[in-house]
Amino acid sequence: MTTRLPPLGYWMGGQGSRYELNTPALVLDLDALERNIHRMAEAMRGFGRKLRPHAKSHKCVRIARAQIEAGAVGICCATLDEAEVMAANGISGILVTSPVTTAMKVSRFIELVGGAPDTMIVVDNADNAGALAAAAERAGVTASVLVDVELGFGRTGVLSVDAAEALARAIAACPSLRFAGVQAYGGHLQHSADHGARLDLCRRAHGFIRDIVARLTSIGMPPEIITGGGTGTHAIDGIEGPFTEIQAGSYVFMDAEYQDITYEDGSDWPFENALFVQTAVTSINVAGTVTTDAGTKSFALNGPKPRIATPGLSGAAYEYSGDEHGRVRLGAGMVQPKLGDRLECVIPHCDPTVVLYDAFHCVRQDALAEIWPVDARGRR
Ligand code: PLP
Ligand code: MN
Repeated sequence: MTTRLPPLGYWMGGQGSRYELNTPALVLDLDALERNIHRMAEAMRGFGRKLRPHAKSHKCVRIARAQIEAGAVGICCATLDEAEVMAANGISGILVTSPVTTAMKVSRFIELVGGAPDTMIVVDNADNAGALAAAAERAGVTASVLVDVELGFGRTGVLSVDAAEALARAIAACPSLRFAGVQAYGGHLQHSADHGARLDLCRRAHGFIRDIVARLTSIGMPPEIITGGGTGTHAIDGIEGPFTEIQAGSYVFMDAEYQDITYEDGSDWPFENALFVQTAVTSINVAGTVTTDAGTKSFALNGPKPRIATPGLSGAAYEYSGDEHGRVRLGAGMVQPKLGDRLECVIPHCDPTVVLYDAFHCVRQDALAEIWPVDARGRR
């Protein structure tokens, strides 16, 4: 006997009720998403900066398109694989924000440039620039390359003004490369919880970037693009940073991790939680708690615990109770949910949670409006 396999992760072809999804499911509130996209675009216009949002957060062509329609100059991709998916779907102005160093990826990046000539990449090493140049020359294309600058996170980038100058000169010496500017992103700056501390760290980083820009300008190589910044520092970077453009990503969704950080003056973030994991109650036998069908396979584990957003249950404490189980401890006076009831959780950390799912279930209030694939899922 054979059985028919239901479509993976989907339900009702994208129409119906928000509360009839195949749980655990990723739920995207389209109204909140649109407000977030609009607010960041407006903020950057106000600061006189361009926006090249980071698509690592969503890996979704529809969201990239919406960001560009709202005024973004292109998108950032964390990986070559992500960039290939975006370019194949007609997204332009892509910046790959991490170096690619294996021969296979170098040649794939150059192939990508052949079809999408405005695609750019960062380097932090002259040999890597040389490898890109050789591949570009063989293919008869010109590749646009930015010098990646390290801001104290210890990840990628050049460590000094002299090293930035040397690398920029090495790029300029390759006829098949175009020196496009500098990238300076500090992951450690984004989640610095206290605004005063964040401001202080940013100012030091800005000083270093300005020294590099001044040096490059003094040797006749003023960077056309100075790109960096994220959601956590977007306002500081927008108001007083050295950047021509900001790379914020998480603002489209927000998450519990960002919720825990103080915005500029202690006021609320201008961005709302737009992304939730919906889970269903599977057991109610233990007083004061319910068990749900979302456990450690359903959330990224490198953030705070998921937070219950369901009205009447906000403040109930979610705990992991195994790979496929969550335990929700109810607060005093909360009515115990029934078997099969849906609870929605604010996600702990957006980017690594998104890649656990095939699709965004896009809702407007209680209605399921559309289903969008996580297009670059499975492409690292
Ligand atoms: N730029 C780079 C290079 C990143 O790695 C990231 C996120 O990790 C971002 C921008 C976006 O930062 P956020 O998601 O905090 O907005
Ligand atoms: Mn992140």
